[in-house]
Amino acid sequence: MKVLLVNMPFAAVRPAIGPSLLKSHLAAIGYECCVLYLNLRMAQRLGNSDFSYIADRTPTQSLSGDWVFAPGLFGSRPEADREYVAAFNERFGRYVDNAAPLAVLQRARAMAEDFLEECLADDVWKLYDVIGFTSTFTQHVSSLALAQRLKQRYQDKLIVFGGANCEDQMGVAVHRLFPFVDYVCSGEADISFPRLIRALDSGENPSDIPGVIYRRDAQTRWTSLVPQRVRDLDTLPMPDYDDYFEQLEMFGLSGSGILMESSRGCWWGEKHHCTFCGLNGTAMAFRCKSASRVLAELDAQVARYRPAHVEMVDNILDMHYFRDLLPELHRRHLNLGLFYETKANLTKVQVQELFAAGITSIQPGIESFSTSVLKIMRKGTTALQNVQLLKWCKEVGMKVYWNLLYGFPGEDPNEYKIMSALIDKITHLDPPQGMGGIRLDRFSPNFVSAADLGLCNVRPDRSYRYIYDLPESDLYGLAYYFEHDYRDQRDPHQYIHGTEQAMRRWYAESGGRGLVYVDHGDHLAIWDFRTIAEERLTILTGSDRALYLFCDAQRSAPNIMKFAAEELGLSAEAAMEAVTRLAQANLIVEVDARFLSLAVSAPALPDTERSHKLSNALAF
Ligand code: SF4
Repeated sequence: MKVLLVNMPFAAVRPAIGPSLLKSHLAAIGYECCVLYLNLRMAQRLGNSDFSYIADRTPTQSLSGDWVFAPGLFGSRPEADREYVAAFNERFGRYVDNAAPLAVLQRARAMAEDFLEECLADDVWKLYDVIGFTSTFTQHVSSLALAQRLKQRYQDKLIVFGGANCEDQMGVAVHRLFPFVDYVCSGEADISFPRLIRALDSGENPSDIPGVIYRRDAQTRWTSLVPQRVRDLDTLPMPDYDDYFEQLEMFGLSGSGILMESSRGCWWGEKHHCTFCGLNGTAMAFRCKSASRVLAELDAQVARYRPAHVEMVDNILDMHYFRDLLPELHRRHLNLGLFYETKANLTKVQVQELFAAGITSIQPGIESFSTSVLKIMRKGTTALQNVQLLKWCKEVGMKVYWNLLYGFPGEDPNEYKIMSALIDKITHLDPPQGMGGIRLDRFSPNFVSAADLGLCNVRPDRSYRYIYDLPESDLYGLAYYFEHDYRDQRDPHQYIHGTEQAMRRWYAESGGRGLVYVDHGDHLAIWDFRTIAEERLTILTGSDRALYLFCDAQRSAPNIMKFAAEELGLSAEAAMEAVTRLAQANLIVEVDARFLSLAVSAPALPDTERSHKLSNALAF
């Protein structure tokens, strides 16, 4: 039995880790498997720029990639299309240039039908017995449209679906609503999919495999929607990306990074599930690979694929890696531009250790600059921890990817006024990739416990209605994104306008020369190029300098007074007067009765000549 795994548009141009791992699992038990990257074929036809716009940059709830292929599954629906376009403008117009994305989507749509027919006409299908579709994010409709055509032409082929769009009830809905899908693997398929293939090959009944949804007497059935999970991630094979790199070259595309996985689940979410997060589906329990296994995999994959960069797909960095993995990565100097998602409450030393280990970009869960809003979302961080992380990342030169979220039930609108003022003080730090109202994602506490958390009228996101020609009750099973109202009938758009304006100012100012300091030992020179700067150059000496450096990490007033008394022989009043004076000059920020110096440390300058040069450079 031969297996073909298909990665449809609009999966981004990068290797698909799930199917590549399944390919290795199947190879280990003697089955031939190939991963077919039809997303690359579409990227070549559409052009990399337009393709990646749809794949990576349109708002997720717009389901734009699914809309492109909707006629291929449900036929022409002009009225639904009109509603989709109107809704796109109304909902996302505040964040994107209206005309550009819709023109890109229309261009893609105009070639979608030919693309499907061209894929169908390929002889490759004849070589395989099982055709598996991996469906994550916005590749659901393209996968279903092609699967339908394949089943019509090749009735003997078995069609299997899996991926994040097929977990739990979503998998049941896919199987029930689309009869051309023979089996669905719900959740992690490391164990269930190879078992399914073996059962199909040997003529056994696959009905008792946990996580596998099947059909009997024309009815959708399953033993359990929760699959058997891999307990020890060190036992996993390494993903086989050969097909990706071969096909990438064939289509003349660039995209030479690889994905790696060092853990699954989330150690924070196990205890305090962030209310907006649906990321881990039904598998929150944290499991991780040992440092030695991660290093062995990194060595092997780098030797095999020579990637330009390596992106870790983990939801959260395992803090134990600070003890073993990161020091060893530091020692090896691999220069791989590693990426990790982390928690935001890292210390300065941890930020430096990450960067020294070759991690050049991170995605910390910043989400907000309001401690009370962060508390509502159970993020376990504070506003100032978020600001200090951005500052420390800027100091070492580490790129930070993050978003600003609003619309949490119970949040105080006044927090957004405070946040707007704070944003104007930190325009020298990296702005977020975007700002948006919370989405209700399936599996998140906001979805599961909506009523308890102050949300009501939960319904599938309207994009599903415009794309899928199905009744609302079916969409409820199929959807991952949901819309909601608030029990207290609030409309967050009425109070976030000022923050949106502050964000625009931030974007306009980002990339400027910012706010930096140079410590000359006897004095500290702070250069301020922000729009709100009161003085271009401020020189701090003596206790002012010492207090400024002490507040490099956020400090409470008692902390500051204790430090001033013990280290500087300064009275509490004098210390707080100095810190307040610096806060009034916007060089220190005060939030939640804690104080943080805002200037980013410029590299140390060993002699006066160089420091003069820097001063001159900064002055222009
Ligand atoms: S948002 Fe991140 S930290 Fe929070 S539960 Fe989800 S994965 Fe974990």
